[in-house]
Amino acid sequence: MSDGEETGDAVCWLGMLCPECGAMPSEGATDRCWRCGAVRDSEEEREAT
Ligand SMILES: [Zn+2]
Repeated sequence: MSDGEETGDAVCWLGMLCPECGAMPSEGATDRCWRCGAVRDSEEEREAT
């Protein structure tokens, strides 16, 4: 089922937004903010679809 694939992706990003500036994570650099350089805590494990 590929329905809602885009939505699921967007929702996943919501929890990855930078807590400092709220910027969306860049591809390949989700552990660090490309905007302000703030390092996100990897406490929350990514949901494995
Ligand atoms: Zn930031």
